Amino acid sequence: MVRKHCIVKAESLFAQQSQYVSSVVPYDSAAALSSDAAPAARLIPDDPQADALSLIREAGLVGMGGAGFPTWKKLEFGKGTSVVIANAAECEPLLAHNIARLETDAERIVSGLMIAMRIVGASKGIVAIKAKNAAAVASLQSALQTAVQSATHSALETAQGNLDLSVFFLQDRYPAGDERAIVRDVLGTLIAPTSIPGEAGAVVINVETLLRVHEAVVDRKPVTAKDITVAGLIDGSGYERDTSIVVYDVPIGISLREVLAALNIAEPGPDAQLLTGGPYMGNAAQLDDTITATCGGIMIAGPEIPDPGPVGIIVCACGASDERLKSIVAAEGASLAGIELCKNAVRLPNGRLKCANPGICPGQAQAVLALKKQGATGLLIGHCTDCSNTVMQIAPKLGMRVHHATDAYLRAGDEHLVRSFRKTEPVTARG
Ligand code: SF4
Repeated sequence: MVRKHCIVKAESLFAQQSQYVSSVVPYDSAAALSSDAAPAARLIPDDPQADALSLIREAGLVGMGGAGFPTWKKLEFGKGTSVVIANAAECEPLLAHNIARLETDAERIVSGLMIAMRIVGASKGIVAIKAKNAAAVASLQSALQTAVQSATHSALETAQGNLDLSVFFLQDRYPAGDERAIVRDVLGTLIAPTSIPGEAGAVVINVETLLRVHEAVVDRKPVTAKDITVAGLIDGSGYERDTSIVVYDVPIGISLREVLAALNIAEPGPDAQLLTGGPYMGNAAQLDDTITATCGGIMIAGPEIPDPGPVGIIVCACGASDERLKSIVAAEGASLAGIELCKNAVRLPNGRLKCANPGICPGQAQAVLALKKQGATGLLIGHCTDCSNTVMQIAPKLGMRVHHATDAYLRAGDEHLVRSFRKTEPVTARG
């Protein structure tokens, strides 16, 4: 089932858009705008010789899938790789803005992909997407076909031999869009948690970032706006809660409160919960927080369902942080029985968790039994689809209630709960 989404353009919502745009400082812009700046450091929208990498850097573009790593650096480090993978997984539930962009702007995304390929010297470009997004797949395939035939890119084709653009269908599971999961699924290489896709000869870039690559290089536009999805308790918007509202080009710097007001969404009450990002990896937010270049969405939920407790937590690398999980247990009114870690979660030297094999369950019986021994009668997890299914095969048989960190947001958005996901058939054919 594909969730419904609608598309709203920010320019129709925010009359004062330029006020926010002008408050955004693009990367290196202080130097670029200074009359004393060296020519190479200036914003050079009219210079036909400007190279694409410089334009991307000067536009202030960072990875818009959430990582926020400067795109020019990713492309610089990626020089010499053979493939660029466009990440269209959109694996967080409720989010829909990447898929919407592919439906409406596939040509510009493919143009961004080809610019990225040109920069790193790759002859192969692959768009990784779930087959269920049929409208996006159709417009993508048409754009890829046009690009291959286009004279505009003949120089790339000539310079790099056989230009190879294709689509790879991902499984419909979370976290299909994890960079290392994509590399594993598309190229068949599982890289270490400490490694980057370059080790497998690939660069992975989110599709909205590729759209902005096109805007930076072809339109000479700095990054001043972000696509987002607004979902959950969207009363007042005119849409049902089973619809995700995609808003294109929200000015960076505008507050969540202003976005909700522009969409006529009732301001969340004192019991409501607010996240920026998706229900899995999002961060607790306040109405006065602002839209950033990495903000994927605004999620609004009601209160957590109370649990008599004690509740045990299993922390994983792909979901809510232990701090967020603890706050959910508190919001359920339960005491905390204990904390366990998914066997696949590896702690990196910087303290961050990474999954050893994203989305492939290593078994959860040990963690569930350990928490049972510590007195837990309920469980709170933030697991991937596969691990959530595993927990559901064990915990209810032990008489334990299971909650997932995404529950409140998925309930608010009239969406299936994660642990209720059906196991999907693997789809790996290329179109
Ligand atoms: S295996 Fe564990 S750490 Fe990895 S994605 Fe699944 S729940 Fe997260």
